[in-house]
Amino acid sequence: MPALFLAQSILTPQDLINDPTHGVGLLVGDDRRIAAIGPADELQIWQPNAKVYDYRPLLLVPGVINAHNHSFQSMMRGIADDRPFNEWRDAFYRVSVSFTPEDIYDGALLAFGEMLLRGITTVCDFFYLHHGGNDHDRAVLRAANDLGIRCTLARSMIDATRPPEAYRETIEQAVANTRVLAKEVQGNPLLRVLPAPHSPHNCSPEMVRAGAALAEELDTPWHTHVAEGYYEVELTQRLYGLPPLGWIASLGVLSPRTNIVHGVHLSPKEIDRLGAAGGGLLYCPSSNMFLGDGITALPRYVEAGARVALGSDGGSSNNRVSVFDEMRMAALLQKVAAHDGSVLSAEQVFVMGTRGGAAALGIDTGALEVGRLADFIALDPRDLSLQPPTNLRKHLVYAMNSSAIRHVVIGAVEVVHDRQHTVGAAALQNLPDRLAAMVESRRASGVI
Ligand SMILES: [Zn+2]
Repeated sequence: MPALFLAQSILTPQDLINDPTHGVGLLVGDDRRIAAIGPADELQIWQPNAKVYDYRPLLLVPGVINAHNHSFQSMMRGIADDRPFNEWRDAFYRVSVSFTPEDIYDGALLAFGEMLLRGITTVCDFFYLHHGGNDHDRAVLRAANDLGIRCTLARSMIDATRPPEAYRETIEQAVANTRVLAKEVQGNPLLRVLPAPHSPHNCSPEMVRAGAALAEELDTPWHTHVAEGYYEVELTQRLYGLPPLGWIASLGVLSPRTNIVHGVHLSPKEIDRLGAAGGGLLYCPSSNMFLGDGITALPRYVEAGARVALGSDGGSSNNRVSVFDEMRMAALLQKVAAHDGSVLSAEQVFVMGTRGGAAALGIDTGALEVGRLADFIALDPRDLSLQPPTNLRKHLVYAMNSSAIRHVVIGAVEVVHDRQHTVGAAALQNLPDRLAAMVESRRASGVI
C-alpha cells in the first residue's frame, strides 16, 4: 500500500517546499521509493487509499548518512580517552578480542540505536572482528535489521601480522567469507556487504588487489583507511618507496569504486589522483581531532573532484555518533585550518552528509526527490535550536540540536516516533543492564 507523509515543509535538493496552511506531501510507492512530492490535497486526491502519516506542522529533511563507523567501539567509550594513538589502539585491541557475538550485537544496538535518534538513516559499519568466520559480522547485521536502520557492512580484510589474530585472515578466507556474507543479505532491502581491505599498513598488496577485484565481482564500492596517521606514510615509503595513496594507485586498483577513510596525510598530487580516478573520501573530522591525527585538506579534495562523505568513526574515537555533528565539525575545522570563514559552507557539508554518503555507498538515498528511497526525518521547526526562522540550511548544520528530531522514517517505515524507537524497542529495553554487566566482567578479568 502506498504511504503519504504530510508535513508543513519538505527540503528537496533544489528548494524548501512550504505550505503552512494546507501542507505538502511526500508519497511513497510500494517499492519504498519516493513517487511524488507536492501539495498535500492533490496527493490525497490522487492516492485516496494511501496510508496517511500526518506530521503537520513538522518539516521533512533527508536522513543523514554515516559513511564510516565501527559499531562495536561504542562499547569501548571512555576506556582509553585522552591517550596517545598507540596506547588507545592497544587498549582497544585488548578489549575488542574478548567480545562474543552477543556483545557485538549489543554494541551495534547501542551504536545504531543512538544514531537513529540523531537522524542517521544509513550507516556503513566497517567491521574487522571476524575470528576467522562471519558469526560476529552477522551479529552487526542482525542488530541493524532489528532496529530497521539501513546498514552496509564494510567487511574488513587484514593479513598483516601485527593486529590481533581475531582480526586476521588469509586472502582466500577473507574473500570467501565476504562472498558468503554478501550472498546471505541479498534480497534484504536494508542490508548490504562490501569488501574493505583495511589499510596500507594492515594489508599486503595482494589483499588490496583481492578486495578491489571482489568489489568488481559484487558490483559494490570498496573502502579502505588511508593515511590516518603520519606513521603510515613512513611505513609505505620504507616498504614500497611510495606514499600511501601512491602505493594503492601503483596496484592498479584506483577507480570510482574506491573510497578512502581519513586521507589526512596525502600530498596534493595524491589527492588529485584520487579525484581524477573518480574515487571518494570518507571524512571523519571529530575522530581526527580526538586522536590528534591532523587536518585533512578537504578543500583540495573538493577541488580535485573527489566525492566526499562524512563519518563519525568508532564510538571510542569521537565519542559521539551524529553526522549533524560531523557536518558542523567539518565546516568549523576547515575554517580554522584555512583561517577563512568562507572556505566551506553549511550547504556543502550538508550535501556531504547526505547525498555524498549515498554516493559513497552506492545507495539511492540521501535526498528527497522522486525515485530515491524514502529515508527521512521529521523536524520540529519550533524547536528552540532552529530559531529564529532566518536560514534553515545554516541552522541544520550550525545550530540544530537533536531535540528537534521527532520522527525517523526508513524505507517508509517509521522507526522512531516522538523520539522513541518503535522498531526493536524490546531489544533496546535492557541494553544498559547488559552493558553494565559487560563492563563489570571486563573489569573483573583485568582487560579494562
Ligand atoms: Zn575507521
